[in-house]
Amino acid sequence: MQHITVVGAGTMGNGIAHICAMTGFDVQLVDVKQEYLDRALATITKNLDRQVKKEMITDEDKQAALGRIKAHTDLDAALPAADLVIEAASENEEVKLALFRDFDGKCGPGCILATNTSSISITRIAAVTKRPAQVIGMHFFNPVPVMKLVEIIRGHETSDAVYNTIHELSEKLGKVPVEVQDYPGFVSNRVLMPMINEAIYALMEGVATPESIDTVMKLGMAHPMGPLTLADFIGLDVCLDIMNVLHDGIGDPKYRPCPLLRKMVAAGHIGRKSGKGFYDYSAS
Ligand code: NAD
Repeated sequence: MQHITVVGAGTMGNGIAHICAMTGFDVQLVDVKQEYLDRALATITKNLDRQVKKEMITDEDKQAALGRIKAHTDLDAALPAADLVIEAASENEEVKLALFRDFDGKCGPGCILATNTSSISITRIAAVTKRPAQVIGMHFFNPVPVMKLVEIIRGHETSDAVYNTIHELSEKLGKVPVEVQDYPGFVSNRVLMPMINEAIYALMEGVATPESIDTVMKLGMAHPMGPLTLADFIGLDVCLDIMNVLHDGIGDPKYRPCPLLRKMVAAGHIGRKSGKGFYDYSAS
């Protein structure tokens, strides 16, 4: 494997391109607008600079990595040579299904198609291709160059050979892969989101203030960040979407999104990115 095409150059795509290029792969990074690619390259450069400053890599390593990334908007040109496509486009099922149909038609027959989706079924994505055995989930965590975990999600038909290739690749990228089956929320969000949702119920029912709920979980359970602070960081809109995926996909009422979460999203108070969530960020 030498050629990796990363589709989507946002928060996750730029991090994935960064670690692939640092590991020595030739990377084509694709997005729909040049300005998104310019922003991604600026972020990658800034993050590589930080690694140089911390003496984790040399300036030559940085230049070599940047030299291995070709960023452009021409998806058709980025597919035929790819050994692996890692899709990190927006979390929208229609967008992902359309992309995978396209990848399937334009990539070589041996190419593996991976998605970084947080919540969409790998099996459903694989089903729109003629190569479901070669479709797999590679769920990285933000920020990608720092976070060690990759959940590798096997779709219903993912082959052992493809799983093993992606497991090995993840280790080569410096990550710790964990094998997960394709059920709603995989492991990470299935365990994390109900905890956050329950913290919001506790707030709604007046059990404690946001600060107290977060302090209990930080000091009592040794969590580095309280659940409400974490929800603000992730985005309450994203938390609600994932709770809906768990609720719809598993059908158990224990996954119902908290009414306060729904209300805050409706009000546009979706956390850090909007300046207000469970806490006020207007000054930062
Ligand atoms: P983002 O909004 O920062 O970036 C998505 C990028 O995809 C945008 O630049 C957008 O222009 C581009 N895009 C949309 N349609 C495209 C298309 N047809 N072709 C090419 N590019 C296209 O989103 P993100 O946070 O980087 O998330 C990307 C994926 O990673 C999602 O599936 C998300 O669920 C998943 N994910 C996100 C996080 C996180 O913490 N942000 C963590 C794990 C997984």
